[in-house]
Amino acid sequence: MKALQYVTVGAEPEVREIPTPEPGPGEVLLRVTAAGVCHSDDFVMNNPPEQFGIELPLTLGHEGAGQVTALGEGVRGIDIGTNVVVYGPWGCGNCWFCAQGQENYCSRAAELGIMPPGLGSPGAIAEYLIVDSPRHLVPIGDLDPVATVPLTDAGLTPYHAIKRSLDKIRPGSWTVVIGSGGLGHVAIQLLRYLSSTRIIALDVNDEKLEFARSVGAHEAVLSDDRAAGNVRKITGPAGASLVLDFVGFQPTIDTAMAVAGVDSDVTIVGIGDGKSAARVGFGISPYETTATAPYWGARAELIELIDLAHAGVLDIATERFSLDEAPEAYRRLAAGTLRGRAVVVP
Ligand code: NAD
Ligand code: ZN
Ligand code: ZN
Repeated sequence: MKALQYVTVGAEPEVREIPTPEPGPGEVLLRVTAAGVCHSDDFVMNNPPEQFGIELPLTLGHEGAGQVTALGEGVRGIDIGTNVVVYGPWGCGNCWFCAQGQENYCSRAAELGIMPPGLGSPGAIAEYLIVDSPRHLVPIGDLDPVATVPLTDAGLTPYHAIKRSLDKIRPGSWTVVIGSGGLGHVAIQLLRYLSSTRIIALDVNDEKLEFARSVGAHEAVLSDDRAAGNVRKITGPAGASLVLDFVGFQPTIDTAMAVAGVDSDVTIVGIGDGKSAARVGFGISPYETTATAPYWGARAELIELIDLAHAGVLDIATERFSLDEAPEAYRRLAAGTLRGRAVVVP
């Protein structure tokens, strides 16, 4: 089969011919119908693979959708032919966090060598994908896999980040969304649907700001060194009740902290350079402001998102690429010229 693989550190990923996998005991084989391209892949490919315990070559893609085509020994409860999306942050299934469905915070994954597809295990940007357990599949019925696959990360990650702060975003509040790309444009739609907060989007050029407005942002502000002051002009002295930073470099984290109001949540989702940080302390941050950095989301939250997709409340912007064009999708991602999410359709 064809697969997009990260082969050489510092080089572009390559489309390669590799053996089609067969499901082992307990595993499920999917024929991939769609796979999303995430900015985190770019971060991973620009850092030494040892840092993440990743062995090369690695098939990329941690957002996957597919049709069940073969079941490993002992697999029950899912039928061949079912259209599914894949819950990516695989865990052990048995620890306290996994028992809550929060496999993203599995306490034993590292010790057991369990890694998400595309971030250690072979990923979804390929013709076929092995999923380690039917527990990690969510049926999508007749939903379009291309429009639905971004929900597994570009949807799930902001959904989790927003849900944990729902009590903050009361009517009359302001929420600041920094970066309206793959994750950010879904975050804006989720905020509109789940709350009556007013949204200020920040991004780097007029085209991106227009995109943010088109998906529901009430205001859009250029993300430069005057951004915090310009946001404060809109929010007034109260500042923002929630700031979601989908960039995570020092300048955006500084903006996030500068626009946060008293008793607000500052949620840093973007990985940035992996070194940037928020400063919290008396007289430095607003009183009772909480800064946090969450990772992905829970299984139940993905099921909820698929239900939202069935209800038709989300309009995910996607740009399609064939498997042969997948390297180009990563070039466009790095250049910042995508509108919404790049999705590879093998
Ligand atoms: P993306 O490239 O699709 O979107 C990023 C957006 O941020 C773009 O619209 C870009 O123009 C904008 N941007 C860039 N620099 C900016 C700046 N200085 N100010 C304001 N906007 C700026 O990326 P994505 O796939 O949506 O991922 C966003 C971030 O979230 C990445 O850092 C990614 O690694 C991270 N991520 C984290 C998690 C998690 O679990 N914490 C999960 C998925 C992705
Ligand atoms: Zn991701
Ligand atoms: Zn676990």
